[in-house]
Amino acid sequence: MVDELFEVFEDLFERRKKKRDRAGKGEKLPAEVRAPAAPPVFCIGCGARNEGGARFCMECGELLPSPGEEMRCLGCNSVVPLKARFCPRCGSKVAV
Ligand SMILES: [Zn+2]
Ligand SMILES: [Zn+2]
Repeated sequence: MVDELFEVFEDLFERRKKKRDRAGKGEKLPAEVRAPAAPPVFCIGCGARNEGGARFCMECGELLPSPGEEMRCLGCNSVVPLKARFCPRCGSKVAV
């Protein structure tokens, strides 16, 4: 009697597990898999949104700032766009 009950429960658990496994596989969105590791880059020239890792703007051809080539303001040490001449935060001239 009790054994039978256990069997039913076991069967239920198995079925539920299988269902969850299938659901988990289905939740894997392709977009998540091929999502670029780098965040999108915005063009300094025209403001277009470019894919992370892009070197030049796809809209106007402007050189895009890349994480490895950031410039820092000498006044406040904040990161400023590659081609900026003045710091957007404190207004001091950025050395080129
Ligand atoms: Zn642009
Ligand atoms: Zn500054």
